[in-house]
Amino acid sequence: MHLIVPGEKLFMEETLKRFIAAKQSLYDNLKQWKKASGKKIVGCHPMDIPEEIVHAAGMLPITLMGFDGAITHATRSLQPTIACNILLENLEMCLNGTLDFLDGVIFADVCDTIPILSDIWLRHSHHVLHHLMVMPKHLNSPSSRRRVSEQFLRLKAAIEKQNNKKISDRALKHSIGVYNQNRRLLKRLYDLRLCKPGLLSASDVSAVVTAGMLMRKEDHNQLVEQLLLELENLPVPTSDMHVKLIVSGSLCGHCDSVLSVIDAQGAYILEDDLYIGSRYFTSLTNEDIDPIEALAQRYVDDIPSPTKFFDANAWANYISNMVIRDKADGIIIVMRKLCEIHADDFPCIQNKLNNGGIPCLMIEIERAGVSEQDKTRIQAFIDMLGVQ
Ligand code: SF4
Repeated sequence: MHLIVPGEKLFMEETLKRFIAAKQSLYDNLKQWKKASGKKIVGCHPMDIPEEIVHAAGMLPITLMGFDGAITHATRSLQPTIACNILLENLEMCLNGTLDFLDGVIFADVCDTIPILSDIWLRHSHHVLHHLMVMPKHLNSPSSRRRVSEQFLRLKAAIEKQNNKKISDRALKHSIGVYNQNRRLLKRLYDLRLCKPGLLSASDVSAVVTAGMLMRKEDHNQLVEQLLLELENLPVPTSDMHVKLIVSGSLCGHCDSVLSVIDAQGAYILEDDLYIGSRYFTSLTNEDIDPIEALAQRYVDDIPSPTKFFDANAWANYISNMVIRDKADGIIIVMRKLCEIHADDFPCIQNKLNNGGIPCLMIEIERAGVSEQDKTRIQAFIDMLGVQ
């Protein structure tokens, strides 16, 4: 659903179609691109992979974001009672051959199940590069940044060994620049949405961010710049009558089913705290210091995350401040079923929001997307905010 008045949206819709096509074709375009370019493609299992290192080696890093098809192989190796849908879907694609076109895969142990997944993957796949980063979890110790740097240097060495070619600091700095440019452009898009709520639907914004995780950042930068030019000239839609929301969570994957319900209800999202959203691009990397140090600094100083422990209240405060700053009517928290790290943080987030009088709805999602019951809960939540 696009929310711009007819007659002024033609160019914008053409541009949006290109993001949506990249998202819908998922890995098919990539296979064609690889054949045509002769370049290597590396799958990054969500989250927290320093893609710039892969990019600097001349390879294309893409995010592995699951699929909608049947899961028949993965449940034989990974217990569905301990694994969220993203883990199962990505493993299924490894086992059923969908990801055979990859030249490598990189994991960070963002939750306890990822090392298990990495082991199973190693046993069953033929990817030349297979790398698991073991990241420090407590980032408030003086040695944290050094330990992150060590992990990034190990990743860099593994890629160099596979390619039989060093990654120069110059190449790495260039890649950091390309990624920073992408983050700045996406931030501009988000700022525009905040100023002109309803300019783009939540599903369209998700398509823009998703496409960037599946294509060359240089190409994505061009497309986002074009979209911004078109959007910046469009009139501001009337937003007074619409409920305005923040959406948070959905770690490691999209929550398009929830976003579609919000769009269909006519509510506007002012800003998000989603993995396929602002969590992916908010923090910039320092371009003036040693590139590995800069990536480690970004990792440590990044926005609060359940994968990185500083302070038990950091994420709750971050989300609550976002709602207050944007003057949103409420927040929907999307939790992936069996995601323990999110579930562990949720009581603290809920307390903070309740204490601040911020209306909050938690929706748990799994493969099939949002259930009919949860659809009704979202609709009721938006209706309730609308009459307040
Ligand atoms: S969503 Fe949660 S459980 Fe699933 S892979 Fe990510 S961190 Fe792990």
